[in-house]
Amino acid sequence: MRFQAPRGTNDVLPSESHRWIELEGCFRELARLYGYAEIRTPDFEDTELFVRSSGETSDVVSKEMYTFPDKSGRSLTLKPEATAPTIRAVVQHSLCPPGTVSRLSYISPIFRYDRPQKGRYRQSHQVGLELLGGASAEADAEVIEVTFRFYERLGIEGAAVRLNSLGREECRAAFRQAILDHARTFLAAESDEARAKAEKNPLRLLDSKDEDVRQAMAGAPPVTRFLEDDSRKRLDSIQALLTEAGIPFTLDPGVVRGLDYYTETVFEVHSTRLGAQSALCGGGRYDHLVKELGGPPTPAVGVAMGIERALLVLEEVGKSLPAPAIDVYLAQATPDAAPALRKLARELRRSGLATVLDTEGRSLKAQIGQADRLGARYAAILGDEELGRGVAQLRDLRRGEQVEVPLDAVATRLRSMG
Ligand code: AMP
Repeated sequence: MRFQAPRGTNDVLPSESHRWIELEGCFRELARLYGYAEIRTPDFEDTELFVRSSGETSDVVSKEMYTFPDKSGRSLTLKPEATAPTIRAVVQHSLCPPGTVSRLSYISPIFRYDRPQKGRYRQSHQVGLELLGGASAEADAEVIEVTFRFYERLGIEGAAVRLNSLGREECRAAFRQAILDHARTFLAAESDEARAKAEKNPLRLLDSKDEDVRQAMAGAPPVTRFLEDDSRKRLDSIQALLTEAGIPFTLDPGVVRGLDYYTETVFEVHSTRLGAQSALCGGGRYDHLVKELGGPPTPAVGVAMGIERALLVLEEVGKSLPAPAIDVYLAQATPDAAPALRKLARELRRSGLATVLDTEGRSLKAQIGQADRLGARYAAILGDEELGRGVAQLRDLRRGEQVEVPLDAVATRLRSMG
């Protein structure tokens, strides 16, 4: 029996892993520049954590969670998103006492039982930020700015921020009612279950993936019509701050986000290169979540950016991320050369050169073939004759040129040749 990776999961092969490493490095560098410290949380949590935070009616909780009992009958869930675990940890370890601001970042897998397609997987990965204790429009704008800079640094052109405000709870009642009024005819023909779900959380109708629902909801009143003054002012300030930072954005009432915990600011960044799954990331303000999960009232704003989607766009635009190169392959033309080559390998690595040492003692031709397959820039070859004279043949594998170099000068020589 030959096994396959489970449906909706991907192996990151050695030929691609450098792209992940580069992207994660780019994210970590930005997080450092903006003062976000990395947090790592477990890959599974108590199921209740996600039901509490994302909301029972969210697609994630109602349809997509990988939930299982462990051997003691406890219900656990593979994390379908990383914000709730982060906030659980913040509360558990008191990482953001009242009156302070805490900036956190993460790189994490997420698990969702969804129909796999391009850009949508059952295990995918996110990089994300949470700014806790920040209530201002500046905090919202900062998170959006780091997000945008991330795509900018990666070389994703044409990424556009779509911004919206869902208002505070107080303005939602009227908005919810307006959505239900708009959807009344459509809902009348739907199942009792669909109707009940829509009535419980009408916002779900606005970000449904179902084409019929989407059509029915076209022309629904925008939430901005129901915003209170404070929310409107916040939205205006964020726009002014984004303009000041030179970040292109559009106001989009269609951005409502799939999880229940958002308050006021919500945003996504989309790319025209992604097709149906065009969202590169999603984020927003979630002022009630920390309290909901047992902590002190703490305003917060965050973002989660899909790694696979960013890599897909980079591939589409033909943007290559640099692959790490092997600098030199050490080939032995005689088994007697092995000790000298091991010594040379240690010295080369100490001086920072990526060095692969042949371990199998196959024919010289096979060793050079292996060096080529690895993309090594140089091969240093040592036979009986070279061993006797304390030299190596240094071959430039791209040009085919070869020079003789004293063993103790190989490192300097390679360094000077870049
Ligand atoms: P969400 O909070 O669901 O909007 O997720 C935030 C971001 O994570 C999305 O914009 C995607 O880039 C990414 N993402 C979410 N779910 C998946 C998935 N099933 N497969 C791949 N990427 C995903």
